[in-house]
Amino acid sequence: MGHIISIASQKGGVGKTTTALNLGIAFSSRQYRTLIIDADPQGGVVFSLDRGRQHYDANDHHRGLYHALCGEAEINEIARTTEFDQLFVVDCGIANSVIDVQAFEEATRASGLLREIIQNTMQYFDLILIDCPPGVGLITNGALIASDYVVIPLQSEPLSLRTLPQLLRQLIEIKKTSNHAIEIAGILITMFDTLNPVSKTVTEQVHTYFNDDLVFQSLIPRDPQLHRLYSGSMSVKELIKEIEPTSIGLQAYDELAEEIEKKFLRK
Ligand code: ADP
Ligand code: MG
Repeated sequence: MGHIISIASQKGGVGKTTTALNLGIAFSSRQYRTLIIDADPQGGVVFSLDRGRQHYDANDHHRGLYHALCGEAEINEIARTTEFDQLFVVDCGIANSVIDVQAFEEATRASGLLREIIQNTMQYFDLILIDCPPGVGLITNGALIASDYVVIPLQSEPLSLRTLPQLLRQLIEIKKTSNHAIEIAGILITMFDTLNPVSKTVTEQVHTYFNDDLVFQSLIPRDPQLHRLYSGSMSVKELIKEIEPTSIGLQAYDELAEEIEKKFLRK
């Protein structure tokens, strides 16, 4: 049976989408048939992965999660191929307008619906990663109810720990009421900067407040090359080929995939 992992955090800009994208690529190259559900209406994952598609048209609106939630399609029918063999992607299926985002959120309101439509598609994938929007709103809530595990990226900057309690409270509530099985796979320290003492302080604080098994050993360093994954026009596959020899970020994500595989996927 496959596994479902949400990438979630209260705060935006901490590396959720970068994590979803890189884990998706790392696991697909480890021969996991992997689906990334881009549940963020901003669509960062899809924006990156679609660049490598032939005949890609940014104005082409696809059916996505919204349509699956409305009962118009199964997720496996709308999952699109990417330039990576074993990697598939589903987007929200909406334009990023206020009205559409509201409709999408409403569609996720029915508690457990997202879980149901994802479960229906599990037989087709070994691993499903859900890239959540920032915050603990309806979409994130639905994703957490659907998930076996959550990865919580935490940017190594002052005060970042302050944003954790809200998500943790929500996780406890979800575990009590609607998804007893959910586990924190780990807090993931991102954008770690060896030259900045704050990074070290934050990392020490995380280890003071949380048991070691709740914090990933893998640290994601600050690596400007990672930013290129969703900017520019080069396909992600081409770009990875170019930066692989020197990117400490890519290397760290590969180690993270290995850590997750060893800890959770080989049970
Ligand atoms: P989120 O999905 O949590 O909003 P993103 O993954 O979109 O966060 O990252 C926010 C910004 O930080 C993006 O511009 C991204 O390219 C950049 N970024 C993410 N991770 C790293 C990293 N390890 N090193 C450098 N820049 C990063
Ligand atoms: Mg994001």
